[in-house]
Amino acid sequence: MLSLHKKYILNTDNFFPVTVKEAKQRGWDNVDVVLFTGDAYIDHPAFGAAVIGRVMENLGLRVAIVPQPNWQDDLRDFKKFGKPNLFFAVTAGNMDSMVNHYTANKRLRSDDAYTPGGRRAYRPDYASVVYCNILKRLFPDVPILLGGVEASLRRLTHYDYWSDKLRPGILIDTKADLLVYGMGEKPVREIIKQINQGKKLGELTNIPQTAYLLKSNELNNPENLKIHKLFSHEECLKDKKKFAQNFKTIEIQSNLLSDAGVITQKAGKDTIVVNPPFLPMEQKELDAVYDLPFTRMPHPKYRNKGAIPAFEMIKFSINIHRGCFGGCSFCTISAHQGKFVQSRSEESVLREVEKLVEMPDFKGNISDLGGPSANMYKMKGIDLSICETCKRPSCISPNICKNLNTDHTALTTLYQKARKISGIKRIFIGSGIRYDMLFDKNNQFTKSGKEYTENLIKNHVSGRLKIALEHISGNVLKIMRKPGFVLFEKFQKYFYEINKKLGLKQ
Ligand code: SF4
Repeated sequence: MLSLHKKYILNTDNFFPVTVKEAKQRGWDNVDVVLFTGDAYIDHPAFGAAVIGRVMENLGLRVAIVPQPNWQDDLRDFKKFGKPNLFFAVTAGNMDSMVNHYTANKRLRSDDAYTPGGRRAYRPDYASVVYCNILKRLFPDVPILLGGVEASLRRLTHYDYWSDKLRPGILIDTKADLLVYGMGEKPVREIIKQINQGKKLGELTNIPQTAYLLKSNELNNPENLKIHKLFSHEECLKDKKKFAQNFKTIEIQSNLLSDAGVITQKAGKDTIVVNPPFLPMEQKELDAVYDLPFTRMPHPKYRNKGAIPAFEMIKFSINIHRGCFGGCSFCTISAHQGKFVQSRSEESVLREVEKLVEMPDFKGNISDLGGPSANMYKMKGIDLSICETCKRPSCISPNICKNLNTDHTALTTLYQKARKISGIKRIFIGSGIRYDMLFDKNNQFTKSGKEYTENLIKNHVSGRLKIALEHISGNVLKIMRKPGFVLFEKFQKYFYEINKKLGLKQ
């Protein structure tokens, strides 16, 4: 008998249709949404296009996916499903297309982890702009919903490292009708709800965590939210400090639990409006996302086309939380996922461990049970009413906030329970550890931090432990909002002591 996953590999019915033939096999003559993505289509909760597709499917929509459409031929990939009933959805993929294409030295990368065989050149530079412009040209009357990390982090004037220029918010270049920033599940649910009530995508101006171009001079602000008017794009071009001030406003407003306001910014004749974010997801909401019927596999069309490196890397790993309160000044995680950590329930994570055990080539080893920072699971403020008015970009830099609960017990318990599941040999922690959270204000290990560290070193290190250390200079670390080097030395000493005690050579 075929295992569950072998059936998935062979059967396109378990995936969103990527061709008209597959749509017809489902009995569909038309689709509600056509979703274009710069990545290969991998039906796994680590890939944004699959998650958003599954959320829309869960709301009753017929979704087709066009992964890595060819933008250089007669554009048949963009035309093949015709006009969708509701809208086109566009994402550049799991990464910004420029980060995907170029190294930090601006050299063209020779591979692409999100394409079968690791082959490059399957998406254009600035993919969101290219895809949206093609769609607007071919189907001017079909609205476009734009999302993904590229759109999210470029929603207002931003520094584009590759052209070494400030660029205006991406709505200007894409002319998308609505942009979702951050993690898209909640805004997409609200968008579909309002569309089901009879509204059109281009009319939606009141949905949290979305941005749009103002069509008239009047801002629709029925709840009378505070309006934060940024320096215009043109003012930023003239004055770096104004750009920096804008960034600060955006960072604060994107991470407020209460009283976040609307941000507006002029760019040429246009005005971009950014609505405040949704509140972070509740545990049950996050669990519900992971309960959607992902096959956890690449679409069968990629059979014999070579492994997809990004999938190979995560296929035996599990994400247990999202968001990061580290607030590192160079990092996109809190800018995209937010400062407040949102954790899955223990049951939800353990259910996923059991699903992994069923996978055909699973040999018993989980490569990661982690998140943006490995050890922030279930951590939050002790008194949330204090967090509600807090404007600190980081809960742990320059020091650990007194109101932050850094108890590691829930995480240690989760590791222990996951280890006991039949079919599991080893669980490694591949995400980086924030070791500063293991210490108290006197730089001594906390009780739960020590217990966690011993358990980690004994059971979860694959030879090398990854930690979130980025530099050795105190001044640089401070600017990066990272802990001082002294804590690293302390942690390292302890790491070797424990290894010696256990007879391990890690
Ligand atoms: S009060 Fe402390 S724990 Fe709460 S958000 Fe602010 S820094 Fe973080």
